[in-house]
Amino acid sequence: MKTDSPASTGRRLTGRRVAGADAKAASRLLLPLLLLAQLAGCSDRSGEAWELSGPTMGTYYSVKVARLPAALPAEDLRQGVTRVLAQTVDLISTYKASSELSRLNRNPSTDWIPVSRALLLVIAEGQRLSALSDGAFDITVGPLVNLWGFGPDVKKDGVPSREASAAARERVGYRKLQVRASPPAVRKQRGDMYIDLSALGEGYGADRVAAYLDARGIGDYMVAVAGAIRVKGHNAHGTPWRIAIEEPMPESRTVSRVMHITDAGLSTSGDYRNFFKKGGQRYSHEIDPRTGMPVARCLASVTVVRKTAMEADGLATALMVMGGSKGTALADREGIAAFFILREDKGFGSQGTASFRRYLAR
Ligand code: FAD
Repeated sequence: MKTDSPASTGRRLTGRRVAGADAKAASRLLLPLLLLAQLAGCSDRSGEAWELSGPTMGTYYSVKVARLPAALPAEDLRQGVTRVLAQTVDLISTYKASSELSRLNRNPSTDWIPVSRALLLVIAEGQRLSALSDGAFDITVGPLVNLWGFGPDVKKDGVPSREASAAARERVGYRKLQVRASPPAVRKQRGDMYIDLSALGEGYGADRVAAYLDARGIGDYMVAVAGAIRVKGHNAHGTPWRIAIEEPMPESRTVSRVMHITDAGLSTSGDYRNFFKKGGQRYSHEIDPRTGMPVARCLASVTVVRKTAMEADGLATALMVMGGSKGTALADREGIAAFFILREDKGFGSQGTASFRRYLAR
């Protein structure tokens, strides 16, 4: 479900009303794994479906509305969705020098640095997940992400030296970052700390688009930013949305499981799309801040369902870094709906927590 590299969405759709048979044809252009959400038979409900997709955050997004209220001009909606995503990039992108997060990262102060309430919300969620995962999730991991070539700096597919890794690890550690709710501010113990919100950002973007659609009275939609998804209500033929989890294979797109789901956020993290190989060893963008190394285990992907896509996005990364046994123990203890796919000698094995099973298609 989550593609760490931009998936091909075919021709870029502009926001438009698609009705009837045209809806099926149009949905073929969207992320192939979302295709399953639509091809469960023809739409047997009147009204027009509306969809939009395009590039964002170095990947792709798509919005599907099962039935667009007649009073809502589609063009206004298209402009609104693209504006919300642009605002998200301006807030939390490390790929945009002028974003609020990039300016915070460049600020050498070790005093309280005022931030917007919106940025504080995302940083505070990251800190909460760090505490929950005993530091496996850590938004201060940025220096290591960049050192391993998975950040905005020039891509280098090399294994960093021990010295470089040790120096980067000095700048990492969620306990070196303090947040203050009011007035909203953060304090870095070291001026050269570098916050990376990529593990929350796609989910946060999907949540903001969902909030925008809610505010316009739209009750049945699916919003996807890469593999971070928010769904509400029902699809065009009145049943829960159908979302496929893909087999974690770098080159192909085959379905592992199909979920029936509504009114939730979900996300998948994995080590099979954004990685490089050196000396037969795979190095992925999921990095353990405690060792400074990309995780290399048999756990290939984790899918999480929560109320918001941002929490699901962050938890999927946290459980991925924790690994199969510690990740499932945390998920069971906290009642997190999670689905783990593990590499085995002959293919993949999988296990879902008790609270996840209700989403799997019977
Ligand atoms: P996830 O598993 O959700 O997150 C993995 C990412 O989280 C890693 O890439 C790393 O950045 C970080 N991470 C790694 N280990 C940890 C850990 N232990 N704890 C916390 N975080 C960790 N990419 C581009 O190529 N071009 C762009 O212009 C671009 N713009 C972006 C703008 C925004 C606002 C955001 C949020 C991201 C942007 N990205 C861009 C990055 C890209 O969209 C993905 O976020 C990134 O590749 C992570 O992919 P993922 O969500 O699938 O992985």
